[in-house]
Amino acid sequence: MANPQERPSSLDLDVLIVGAGFAGLYALHRLREMGYTVRCCDRAEGVGGTWFWNRYPGARCDVESMDYSYSFSPELEQEWQWTERYPAQPEILRYLNHVADRFALRPDIRLGTRVAAAVLDESQQIWRVRLEQGTRAETVRTRFLVMASGCLSAARLPDIPGLGSFTGTTYHTADWPHEGVDFTGRRVGVIGTGSSGTQAIPLIARQAAHTTVFQRTANFSLPARNRPLDPDAVRELKARYREHRQFVRYTPNGTARRNNDVSALTVPPRERTAEYEARWQEGGGGFIGAFNDLLKDEAANDTAAEFLRGKIREIVHDPAVADALTPRGFPVGSKRVTVDTDYYATFNRPDVTLVDVRADPVQRITAPGIRTGSADHHLDSIVFATGFDAITGAVLAVDIRGRDGLALREKWAAGPRAYLGLATAGFPNLFLITGPGSPSVISNMVVSIEQHVEWISDHLGWLDKNGLWSTEADRRAEDDWVRHVAEVADTTLFPRGASWYVGANVPGKPRVFMPYVGGVGTYRRVCEDIAAGDYPGFVTR
Ligand code: FAD
Repeated sequence: MANPQERPSSLDLDVLIVGAGFAGLYALHRLREMGYTVRCCDRAEGVGGTWFWNRYPGARCDVESMDYSYSFSPELEQEWQWTERYPAQPEILRYLNHVADRFALRPDIRLGTRVAAAVLDESQQIWRVRLEQGTRAETVRTRFLVMASGCLSAARLPDIPGLGSFTGTTYHTADWPHEGVDFTGRRVGVIGTGSSGTQAIPLIARQAAHTTVFQRTANFSLPARNRPLDPDAVRELKARYREHRQFVRYTPNGTARRNNDVSALTVPPRERTAEYEARWQEGGGGFIGAFNDLLKDEAANDTAAEFLRGKIREIVHDPAVADALTPRGFPVGSKRVTVDTDYYATFNRPDVTLVDVRADPVQRITAPGIRTGSADHHLDSIVFATGFDAITGAVLAVDIRGRDGLALREKWAAGPRAYLGLATAGFPNLFLITGPGSPSVISNMVVSIEQHVEWISDHLGWLDKNGLWSTEADRRAEDDWVRHVAEVADTTLFPRGASWYVGANVPGKPRVFMPYVGGVGTYRRVCEDIAAGDYPGFVTR
C-alpha cells in the first residue's frame, strides 16, 4: 500500500482506472482491497463495458459461461447460476451488476464520465487526468493510470458518402437503444457480417418485413448449438471449479477447449472429416482445435476451410447465394471465426437478400436507402454492424502524453509498441489491460483480464514494499517483446487474414498484427518469471 506520507501533497488518487467493464471492475476491487485510493470512470451510464453497450438482438458471448466469468472469488463462482451454455448479453450484464453490488464497488465508480486526456507531470511523477462529465470538466492527479478501456469499445462507422442523408432510423450494434428496437414491418439493411452481424441478422430477419444484408467479406461461421446448462453438469464442474480454473489459466486460449494434438495431414481423410463433423455437431469455437496445425500450415487449414465451405453449400439452397457467402482468400481462423445460431439458413428466407458489395459496391447512402452499383435499396432502417477500432482505438482516443510531452498517438503512429502488452516506454506508471502484444482478443478475455489485473496489482505492491514510486517499461525490453510478438505471429497463419487483428478494418490504421498468439499459458509463465525475477525490463525508481 502507498504510504500517504510519501505522496506529493497534490495527489488525489493512487490509481485511476478508465473503464468499468470486466477489467475495470476487478481492478477496482483488487486494488482497493490492497488499500489503495482508487476511482474508476466510465463514459457509459452503467457498469458492464461491452455488455452495457452491445444490446443488439442475439448479442451473446461465444466462450462458455462457466469459463467466461471471474475466478477471483470462489464464493462468487459458487453462488452465481448461469443459465445457458453461451450467455446472452442481458445475463452477462446482470452478472457484472451483481459483481458491482456484491463487492460494493459503486461508490468508487463515476459513470457518465469520459477520460479525455492524461498528461505526465514529470517533476512530481504523477498523471494529471482530464475528466469530462457533460459540459463539466475537472483534472485529477493520480500516481497510476490503468487503461481498462476495452479492446472492442471504440465503435466505428464505415466511410460511406451520404451517411447523414438517410431519412430512416440508424443503429450501431455497439450503441444499441436500451429500450430495444421493434423492426416489425420495416425494411432493414444490415451492413457488416462479422461477429455482431452474424448474431443479429437471423433475429432481425425474423422480425423485419425485409432484410438486406450488405456483405464485404464472407466469414467462416460455426454453429453455436447454444442450450440451457444441465444442472448436473454445473454441479459437477462447481465441485472441481478451483482445479478447472487453474487448468484453464495455462491452456493456449484460456478455455477448456479440447485441442487435438495431431496434424490434420497425418490422419486419413475419412477420419479427418469425422473429426470436423463431430466438432461441427458439438458447436462453438472448438472446431479450430480439431488438429494442431490448422493455424500453422496452409494445407492443413485448407482441409478445415473446405469442410466449412461444404457446410455452407449444404445449408444454403440458392447456389449463387451460397457462393457469395463462401469465404475465400484467407485461412480459416486468421480472422475471428464467428459463432452463430441459424446464420447461413437465414439466407434461405424469401424476405432476406444478400448484397455482395465486393461485386456490387455501395456507392452512397441516400435519403431513402443505400445505392449500390446496380440498384437502389429502399430501407426504413440501417443497422451498422461495422465493428471497432480494435485493441488500440479506445486507448488512443484519450490524449495521453508521457515523457517530454510525447503523445502516445505519435509513439504508436506506425503501430502499437508495448512491453508484454502491459506498459509502454516513456509512459511511467501507466498500465494497459489486455493491451497490444498480450493474448487479449485471441483468448477468453476474462482469463486474460484477471491475469493482467493480478500482475499489475502485484507489481504495485512490490514497488511499495521496496519503497519505489514509479515503474516504466524499458525501451529495449519493449523492442524485444514487440519483435517476439511479430515473430510468433509469423510462425502462424494469423497475419494472413486482413482482419481487425491487424487493423485492416480501419482505413489508415497501421497494419501490425497486435495480439500475442504464443498462448495464454505461455504468456502467463513469461509474466510470472518477470515478477519472480524482480521485474527485469522495467525501470523502477
Ligand atoms: P470493455 O468491456 O470494453 O469495457 C471498457 C469500458 O471502458 C467501456 O465501458 C467504455 O465505455 C469505457 N471507456 C473506454 N474509453 C473510455 C474513456 N476514455 N473514458 C471513460 N470510459 C471509457 N470476449 C471473449 O473472451 N469471449 C466472447 O465471447 C466475447 N464476445 C464478445 C461479443 C461482443 C459483441 C463484443 C463487442 C465483445 C466480445 N468479447 C468477447 C470481448 C469483450 O470485449 C471482452 O470479453 C470483455 O468484456 C472486455 O472487458 P474490458 O473491461 O476489458 O473492456
